[in-house]
Amino acid sequence: MKRANTFDVIPQSSEDEELLRRLLDASAALWNEINYERREHYEDPDQDVWEISEYRGRYGGTLGASTVQQIERKNREAWRSFFSLKKKGEANGKPGFWGNAEEGRELRTYIRNTSYSVKWGKYSRLEILVGQDLKDEYGLGHRERLRLEVWGEPNWKEYDKQGRLELCWDEQARSFRAFQPVTIDTSRLAHPLASEEAALDLGANNLVACTTITGQQYLYEGRDMFERFRETTREIARLQSLLEDGRYSSHRIRSLYRRRTRRRDHAQDALARDLIERLHSEGISTVYVGALTDVLDTHWSVESNAKTHNFWAFRQFIDRLACTAEEYGISVEVRSEAWTSQECPQCGSTERTTRHRDTLTCPCGFEGHADLTASETFLRRQTDVARSMARPVRLKWNDHEWSESPRSCSNEERTNPQVASVGR
Ligand SMILES: [Zn+2]
Repeated sequence: MKRANTFDVIPQSSEDEELLRRLLDASAALWNEINYERREHYEDPDQDVWEISEYRGRYGGTLGASTVQQIERKNREAWRSFFSLKKKGEANGKPGFWGNAEEGRELRTYIRNTSYSVKWGKYSRLEILVGQDLKDEYGLGHRERLRLEVWGEPNWKEYDKQGRLELCWDEQARSFRAFQPVTIDTSRLAHPLASEEAALDLGANNLVACTTITGQQYLYEGRDMFERFRETTREIARLQSLLEDGRYSSHRIRSLYRRRTRRRDHAQDALARDLIERLHSEGISTVYVGALTDVLDTHWSVESNAKTHNFWAFRQFIDRLACTAEEYGISVEVRSEAWTSQECPQCGSTERTTRHRDTLTCPCGFEGHADLTASETFLRRQTDVARSMARPVRLKWNDHEWSESPRSCSNEERTNPQVASVGR
């Protein structure tokens, strides 16, 4: 099966950054030259679009022969797709240029699968081929490649084949981005250890509350993260109110947006992996995920509800979760979960229960952690939950990883152990 990794690439010094920029700029210059020639040939009935000059001589020293070939190939693909769309009457114009020399070129390149390597680890690295002239100029050894730092957790660290790497400068995010297509042999995927099930309740205060049919409960806390998100959002709003008329953004605002997004993505990626690894070792083969039901504190407005959605980017998280689950042969099923978050697991009432912060109480005597209870009720709707629940594992984010909090065992946060059997 075909998948892709996307990650940020960081040069380790200003010389390396300059080298990388020159490499991407020369790639764009090459693309523009090839494309210009093809456009000329296209207009001239005596010329053939596919017959173009030899560019390796002028660009090989900067880009390396294989990258010259990849850019040429990429351009050929663009023209081929233009012709096939034209045939269907859907063409939207000839292939375009990557910017221009006066206003700046779009910094981008394509690197052949054998001309780069990625080492995944605690400090991941990307090494790419550059032309001999650039190596000489920047003091790289004859066989040396340009070494770059990689940021972000890739979906796929193990694969059977890597495809052509796309590397570009993202003006919006002000960072270098890499897109790496990979092929994974399905025999490589892990198999579920058993066919157990689990259910998740997603929210903003607690990002994920999970109950497994094997009696485990996990709670990933989000309150601190959400508070920081709200602080950054307030700061963005303040800066926006200071902008001159007709301006919508500034460098500072973009950088805040970017940091806010990056923090969330990092925590989400790590959460998906931490959770799926735990579920895999529990023998889970199916995970049910409900839509957002977090009953927000009463003083929160409709507007903050919208912000919650924005913050957690549920769709993106579920996609990420499904992607990670796939590695372990676990399937993720999205189910509607209407009002399970307010349902009392003991008497079934949804009207009499009250939620105060994380605690759900019912006049029938039930008291438990609201989100964990919701995930348990949700699970019970999908399948039989027979066993009593172990002490919930509470996980906190420290900006790097999710780790078990010593507060895992506070008593009032457990769901009533008798509930599971009573509820059946
Ligand atoms: Zn009740």
